[in-house]
Amino acid sequence: MIGWIKEDTIVAISTPPGEGGVGIVRLSGPCAIPIAAQLFLSSRGKDIQKSRQRVFHGHIQDRNGTVLDEVLLHVMRAPHSYTAEDVVEINAHGGMTPLRAILEEALALSARLAQPGEFTQRAFVNGRLDLSRAEAVIDLVQAQTRAALNAANTAAGGALTRALYGLRDMLADALAHIEAAVDFPEEDLPELVNAALLERLRNAHKQMLELVQTADAGILYRKGVSLAIVGKPNVGKSSLFNALLRNARAIVSAQPGTTRDRLEETITLEGIPARLVDTAGMRSATDEVEAIGVEHARNAAQQAGLILFVVDASAPFTSEDRTLAEELGRLETPVVSVRNKIDLVDDIDRMDAGEFCAVKFAAVCDVSAMTGAGLHELEHILAALLLGDAARSADAPMLFRTHQKDSMRRAAISIEHLLENVEASPEFLALDLREALHAIGEITGETTPEDILDRIFASFCIGK
Ligand code: GDP
Repeated sequence: MIGWIKEDTIVAISTPPGEGGVGIVRLSGPCAIPIAAQLFLSSRGKDIQKSRQRVFHGHIQDRNGTVLDEVLLHVMRAPHSYTAEDVVEINAHGGMTPLRAILEEALALSARLAQPGEFTQRAFVNGRLDLSRAEAVIDLVQAQTRAALNAANTAAGGALTRALYGLRDMLADALAHIEAAVDFPEEDLPELVNAALLERLRNAHKQMLELVQTADAGILYRKGVSLAIVGKPNVGKSSLFNALLRNARAIVSAQPGTTRDRLEETITLEGIPARLVDTAGMRSATDEVEAIGVEHARNAAQQAGLILFVVDASAPFTSEDRTLAEELGRLETPVVSVRNKIDLVDDIDRMDAGEFCAVKFAAVCDVSAMTGAGLHELEHILAALLLGDAARSADAPMLFRTHQKDSMRRAAISIEHLLENVEASPEFLALDLREALHAIGEITGETTPEDILDRIFASFCIGK
């Protein structure tokens, strides 16, 4: 955040644009209270600069004394606020016009418009939040499912921070111990990595690996996944899409090749936000519009986290099915074979005989998009495939971002290196410990370079 001056007072509309029941203009910085005092007319004649009260009722007026809105004012004094600075939140009516008018008056009184994420950045700079908690705040705002929200709440509540500080303190103690030995002459060197320290380092290493393992699930909960529904025309892709969605947005028709658009909807798969992509029949297209659809289907399949390959269980497995399956099998993405229309099949086992193809499916599921049979099992199988071993307990610390996973992996590698070379000289042991500490510091923000911090905070929304 170029030109960021800690001393200035920032202001932003903190509620989303559009009409709402309430809208909030938030001020933070040394002049937050004096600026609010100039704008605010208390209905009981209170002076917000002197009163110890924290909530005031009254009106906001402009420079000419014209009333802009009736408001509730929340005054939070440093350090007991989100940013650890003086903060005033003006709770106005929700329309954009009064909110913008209040914002303009605050700007006229020398407040500066906040940059995206600047309130949270101030909380970070003032030591109220470490970087991992600041990032969890943005995850809370953007959480798409309850599971993602729970995980973000756990992180925002400091579970990850505590784990990181625990590791950091342990490694810092070890470093102090090792560094104390650097000045010893070689022959008098005490045993550097004694049994107790070895045990603690092994524990730390194990904990680091466990955290690395949580990252895939964390990223999945946060960013979600895309599921492409692919199959030849008329096997029931749109019906499956609808059944999974439990509404009827996609076109369902008995006419082959009518689903020409790529339709997307997000569903929750046991807490994972999953974008369901209904593709057109993936086959040699005969007309131009359909050709575009086919192209979309290929792209969707290529970009998906999982592919649902739908076949009609009530009809023989054709060479067209086989060609398609083999084409999908060449992609890196795991493919789940979904045998649809089982309501039309008396003996499901019989159809296995026809299903000879060289593709190795991640799972095979029998469903009926029409009756709903097998759909819960399908959802469960998809979630299990996506999460793999990464199933987690709700309040365990978890990594949510690729950069966190990368740093934690580097920390683990440094400690692994140390554990393999416990007889090395203290300088070398200290080097490994410093590298591990630095890597963990990248997650807490202590050693994160300024430009990366700026980029992280810039991904927040304005007013947060
Ligand atoms: P798409 O071309 O693959 O998208 O297939 P549609 O979803 O349009 O379905 C093609 C036809 O199969 C429609 O007439 C659906 O009603 C029917 N259909 C889809 N799923 C099922 C099912 O599970 N059971 C039965 N009996 N019919 C189905």
